[in-house]
Amino acid sequence: MGNENAVLIIGAGAAGLSAARELTAAGAQVIVIEARDRVGGRIHTLREDFSAIPIELGAEFVHGKHPQLLEIIEASRILFCDVTERHWYIEKGLLSNSHDFWNKLTALMDLMNLEEPDRSFQDFLDSIPDDEAIVRAKAVATRYVQGFHAADVNRIGVHGLVKANEAEDEIQGDKSFRILRGYDLVTSSLLEPAKTNGAIVHCNAIVKELHWRKHQIEAVCLSRGQTQHFHASRAVVTLPLGVLQARPDQGGVRFVPKLPENKQQAISSLAMGHATRITLLFRERFWEGLDIPAAQAGQDLTDVGLTELGFIHYPDADIPTWWTLLPVRAPVMIGWAGGPKSTKLSGRDAKYIEARAVNSLKQIFGVSEKKLRQLLLASHTHDWNSDPFARGAYAYLPVDGLLNQQILAEPLEDTLFFAGEATSVGHVGTVHGAIESGHRVAKEILANR
Ligand SMILES: Cc1cc2nc3c(=O)[nH]c(=O)nc-3n(C[C@H](O)[C@H](O)[C@H](O)COP(=O)(O)OP(=O)(O)OC[C@H]3O[C@@H](n4cnc5c(N)ncnc54)[C@H](O)[C@@H]3O)c2cc1C
Repeated sequence: MGNENAVLIIGAGAAGLSAARELTAAGAQVIVIEARDRVGGRIHTLREDFSAIPIELGAEFVHGKHPQLLEIIEASRILFCDVTERHWYIEKGLLSNSHDFWNKLTALMDLMNLEEPDRSFQDFLDSIPDDEAIVRAKAVATRYVQGFHAADVNRIGVHGLVKANEAEDEIQGDKSFRILRGYDLVTSSLLEPAKTNGAIVHCNAIVKELHWRKHQIEAVCLSRGQTQHFHASRAVVTLPLGVLQARPDQGGVRFVPKLPENKQQAISSLAMGHATRITLLFRERFWEGLDIPAAQAGQDLTDVGLTELGFIHYPDADIPTWWTLLPVRAPVMIGWAGGPKSTKLSGRDAKYIEARAVNSLKQIFGVSEKKLRQLLLASHTHDWNSDPFARGAYAYLPVDGLLNQQILAEPLEDTLFFAGEATSVGHVGTVHGAIESGHRVAKEILANR
């Protein structure tokens, strides 16, 4: 199947679909091959019959105002709202708010720089002398890097974090938005124009082998038990880093001939982070009626109370970070564990994750498990860490990762092109990073046609 002049795009996530949209808009013939029975990849929205609220199993937030993602949202008139920046902490049964959380965090993160040789975030923290305030700031920063970057602090590199902070500053990344009717609207806004311009999308087609030589591609796929062959002159590889890292006999893709040594080394040295998200749908917003004592005397937090609960952090819980859908008032709570806490939950079934989630809320709010179970209508989670077509949540850059990321993104022989969130400098691990990488490869391909 296919056409000698076509471009084969492997993976129909945000990166693959944005490449498909850009390439078809410029008149290229495009074939997209996707292993799952759906497009979207790590954007995966569910809808329950009994609830108007879309449930995100993958990406939920639009981080900042990246022009290429904003353009899609605006052109398709997708409704979105601000996400509250209100963070609460419960420590030793007492509630405090986030006033000094960001200050502590940014003061510490501002000490990182690109001038010194790269080192792990943990080594960087260890190099700062301790006093009582710094010890707390280090704990906050560690939890942030584990939670947001889904990373192991002993591996993630300072240079990658500095780049991520710089990139975030350029797009007002401290503000986040939520797509009211589901993130998959972004997927559709990429898919539809690509299809209108002639892109052919094959779902349920798992690429097992990719044979390549200059301007000749053959993808050998397994599709519903049958072997299929697709031919093209170029291929865009948007496989998640975790899939690129997997050996062919363990579910990875066999490149024939093998990828050059430096590309293989770059792939194996980058890291796929772990994250677990669970959405709990309740009968009511039970937290709004709770009375939790405030941490500092005179700080009457219960005045605004938990009616304005945005994010809540309780580091000791198995699922330590929770948030509501504020400003939308819905009886929904989303739990998040990133980095090592998520690794511990990998491979466990949904019932187990639900039980850890209920237990975490019990610890946070002091509400009995029995009561929480009575209030709980449904829960949804997806094990991205064990998902064979993701093999992790999103990538992060270990020490010296910037150079390896550059090597990963480099095209080979004007024939194999590499996109996907892992290749996106500064915006690694995000939807807008994936979309930006799709634009980049489309430009690389079109420049030589
Ligand atoms: C739980 C979670 C929460 C997240 N939250 C956010 C967030 O709030 N905001 C944000 O910006 N980002 C978030 N992200 C990250 C974001 O979802 C990803 O960075 C982005 O969607 C990745 O897009 P991609 O196209 O690079 O990869 P994918 O979306 O993974 O696309 C790659 C595609 O390749 C397919 N594939 C894999 N193997 C094969 C094969 N052998 N043959 C054919 N096809 C194959 C996959 O099925 C997939 O569809 C989150 C991710 C997770 C997991």
